[in-house]
Order: sequence, then C-alpha cells, then structure tokens
Amino acid sequence: MNKRIRASVRAMTGYVPGEQPRIPDIVKLNTNENPYPPSPAVAAALAGFDAALLRLYPDPVCSELRQELAKLHGCKPENILVVNGSDEALRLVAECFVENDGSIGYFDPSYSLYPVLAAMRDVETRPVDIWLDLTWRMPPAYEASLFYLTNPNAPTGLLFDKEKVRDFCRDFAGVVLIDEAYADFARANCLDLALELPNVLICRTLSKSYSLAGLRLGYLVGAEDLIAALNKLRDSYNIDRLAQAAALAAVRDQAWMLANVEKIRQTRTRLTHALRELGWQVYDSETNFVWARPDQPAGEVFAALRERAIIVRYWNSPHLRDFIRITVGTGEQIDKLLRVLRKEI
Ligand code: PMP
Repeated sequence: MNKRIRASVRAMTGYVPGEQPRIPDIVKLNTNENPYPPSPAVAAALAGFDAALLRLYPDPVCSELRQELAKLHGCKPENILVVNGSDEALRLVAECFVENDGSIGYFDPSYSLYPVLAAMRDVETRPVDIWLDLTWRMPPAYEASLFYLTNPNAPTGLLFDKEKVRDFCRDFAGVVLIDEAYADFARANCLDLALELPNVLICRTLSKSYSLAGLRLGYLVGAEDLIAALNKLRDSYNIDRLAQAAALAAVRDQAWMLANVEKIRQTRTRLTHALRELGWQVYDSETNFVWARPDQPAGEVFAALRERAIIVRYWNSPHLRDFIRITVGTGEQIDKLLRVLRKEI
C-alpha cells in the first residue's frame, strides 16, 4: 500500500466504463452509443481542417460554439459552458458547489459515476432509494450541497415528471445538476428550469443524439454566476480545435440529429414490444436504451448473447443483477438480437 497516495483515493473504486471489445462483426449494444454516423457536415469540417492550425492553442472559451448553442436554447453565451464530455461537467460541479464537509445526493439507481465523484471529493453521499417502483421519491426535508438528477434516468430509461422536478428544485437549498444526457430521445426536458431558477444547471452531451461519443463534447446551461464560477475550474483549453470545429458542424445540422433520434425511437418501440412478447418485463424507455428483466436469469442471457458477439450491459450487483440494458442499435442489429433471443438463428 503506497502511503503517498491519499487515503481516500486508496479507498475508492474508480468508475468502470462499459467495455469496448475488439470482436469482429460485433453487435455493440452496451454503452449507449448512437448506431448511425454523425452529420456529414462533421466529416466535411474535419476533412477541411488545416492541420497547420494545431500549432496554435484553441479558443479557450469556445466562442462560436457557445454562440450556436445559445441560439439553439434561446439564451446568452454567458449561460453556457462547453466541457470535454459531460463527465467533465459532472466533476466540475462537485468541485465547485460542495464544501469539504458538504454532501452529494443522487437517486439510486442512477448513473454510477456520481458516487465515484463524491469519493473523489471525499464527501458524504446521500443517495435517495427509488427501487420501490423507480418513480419520483424524495424524503421529507431532504438536504445536500449538490444533487445529481438524471432525467431521463439511467439505467432505467424512465422520465421524471417536470413539475415534480421543478418543485424539488425550488425548495432545494443546494445546486441541482439535471443530467440530460438522453433528453433528445425523450418527450420532454427541463432545459428552461436552468434559465428560470438560480440553482439549476442542465448538462447535455453530443455523445448520444449527435453520434459523437468519440469526440468528448458536452455543455452546461445555467445562471451566469454558476457558469462563471465553473469556468474558473475547468482546464484552460479544455476543448481542442478539432473538437470545436466538429461540434459546431454537428450542432448546426439539427435535422440530421433529429432524423437519427426518430429512427432510434421507432426501433426502441419495436424492441420494447418484441421483448414483451418474449415474456420480458420492459420499462417504457425515454432514452436510446431499453432496461429489461429477461424471462431467464439475466447473467445467462448476457453470456449467451456475448457468445454470439452481441454485447449488452449487465451489472452483477445485488439490485441490478436481474436486469440487462440494451442500447437501441440499427434496425438490422435489433433484428439480429431478436432472432438470437427467439432462437431462430
Ligand atoms: N450522464 C449519463 C446519465 C450517462 O449515461 C453518460 C454516459 N455514460 C454521461 C452522462 C456521460 O456522457 P459523456 O460522453 O458526455 O461524458
């Protein structure tokens, strides 16, 4: 044991991302990536990029991209902070809004990175257990310095009611980070709460709906003073020139993103119905993945699919081990998954 490493770091378990296996002809449905390519405008922006420009540092404040995002959301560039994947935003808020004796809250289940971020800060966690029926639940007089509110939630795929979210945010003394990684796939979102309430930040990512998980680009929307505070904590040049150029092209092509989202929603509906016909319990997803309890032990289903080079997400932990999470792939990928599950191939 190396005593040079802080005790809290020695004690913590790092976040474990879903695997990126190198299997030929894999059907990869495990990390909620988009199965369709990003806008052709992204390829054009990268192809037209002058490599000589990499000699120079990038724009430290992502002026053009923030302008474009501000236009998209009907706010000012001062309401926006661009980050290196929304994971960076989630870490920054833990650094910015939680004193050393403060606390971090989140729903259980939700994104498994949040307790890891609390462990990094070595602060108390105040998880809110929603396992009973996975819907909205908040203990009376609940307090924390920061609450990570995933909406739609992951891994359940369920959307919390906006009025409940608004009421909670209004009463909550700390900062609420609404993680809307999957909001483009949902019926509704809470973006306007970030422009309406002084303690609410919305986090979005280009990883899912814009098909750019490999780029690492996310952003926060919120009150100017919160954004300015976070801006002091990020890396000075957190977004490189290539990422700024590619993200700008992607955000300008809303039609491409929305068309892919629509295809994924249709496939999601088909997958949900087909799994229910097989006797699985399937939650109504508002995301690009489906959370389900198979009619057989989930670990066995996961392993059997993996043998056929179909990779889904499975957690062998007490609450989660009865479920698998399936990213909505292309129609063909989902056809193959269903044929294997029906033992047709
Ligand atoms: N929030 C949630 C709820 C997620 O599921 C993910 C993806 N793992 C992220 C944030 C991180 O996304 P990004 O690729 O922007 O870091």
